[in-house]
Amino acid sequence: MTIGIPRRQALAEALRSAGGDPARARVFRAPGRINLLGEHTDYNHGFVLPAAIDLDVAIAAVAESGVFLAVSAQMEGQAVFDPESPRLSGDSWGSYLQGVAWSLSQYTGRVGGIRAGVHSTVPVGSGLSSSAALEVATGLALSLLAGHAVAKEALAAACLRAERQWVGVNCGPMDQWASVFGQRDSVILLDCRTMDIETVHLPEGLCLAVVDSGTPRTLAEGGYNRRRSECEQAARLLGVPALRDVGEADIGELPEPLLRRARHVVRENARVMEGVNALRAGDTGLLGELIDASHESLRADFEVSTPELDAAAAACRTCPGVLGARMVGGGFGGSVMAVAWADAVDALPERMERLGFSGLRVVRASEGAGEVVGGLEGLEGGDPPLGCR
Ligand code: ADP
Ligand code: MG
Repeated sequence: MTIGIPRRQALAEALRSAGGDPARARVFRAPGRINLLGEHTDYNHGFVLPAAIDLDVAIAAVAESGVFLAVSAQMEGQAVFDPESPRLSGDSWGSYLQGVAWSLSQYTGRVGGIRAGVHSTVPVGSGLSSSAALEVATGLALSLLAGHAVAKEALAAACLRAERQWVGVNCGPMDQWASVFGQRDSVILLDCRTMDIETVHLPEGLCLAVVDSGTPRTLAEGGYNRRRSECEQAARLLGVPALRDVGEADIGELPEPLLRRARHVVRENARVMEGVNALRAGDTGLLGELIDASHESLRADFEVSTPELDAAAAACRTCPGVLGARMVGGGFGGSVMAVAWADAVDALPERMERLGFSGLRVVRASEGAGEVVGGLEGLEGGDPPLGCR
């Protein structure tokens, strides 16, 4: 429907369909993310190492009191998402917007309404977190158009609550925090218990690439929530608040499959910290090894990979200049991420295509969410400044 149409125009059309005037619109964007290391560790109060990427959800919106109406260039139908109307099903995309409106209203009181057009370059269900990008862009639009900027922490927390308590995906905080706090050419080390953030610069010449495995997934289908409850069960049996609190020596008595689930989490947390040290020391060889080891652990111990993801990661590793590759996101389908040298990435898409994986794209670690200066006209310009305090 929007193929070949400039993004700005597609977004304006979506807004017009929602009854808004593009000439008066303000535009808000929020990025998807990749994650170098730390998969399924966030809800175990552990460590993650994501980067916001240069694929994002953009929302063009105008304020209108009491109206909560959105049209998406990528999805069917209109979303009527008044938080005080009956709750939309977690399967409908409007549920993400309604959840954010509800969640923000817990902080700020009743939120003002908006008419909104939505356009995304984050592929849906491919492990790059289109859902958090949608939530964060919605949160920015609702709060800034109502005239009260929300602190970054509060914005990320509101979006997380929306996904957990409204949509029904019991996710950890990584996606929302990466979308809000991302930094250009950097990854963020997030401690998912204290919520402390450190920025870690990526070494010059290092590139990130993603390739879809060809099997989309939806987190709401249950596999993700099942893994989460297995981790909680393991922590309960070990008498600790979360698997963050145990080491490898503590988990030996757990029954299967809880032992393998816990082993993944313990080792993955250690890999994050080792990965940070490797980045700081410029030890890219070690970084690649840790990324490969993360995939193997997600495959064998956590059992969230698929044959397609395994094959895509293995294919990446055969390409010259690739340092490491692994599945990214919750698993059960989605994308593989590779870290590669800049001088090798131009050849990567074609080489992967010959191996049966089309559509590899190089992504850049990017700034977190914000308002686009210049509204629709500014949409394809440079990086926007941050839109929240
Ligand atoms: P992901 O890994 O991409 O976050 P999820 O299953 O968590 O996958 O979220 C995908 C859901 O987010 C979609 O099914 C849809 O409801 C919503 N969504 C994502 N992008 C858009 C968009 N451009 N327009 C409307 N809804 C979207
Ligand atoms: Mg998601």
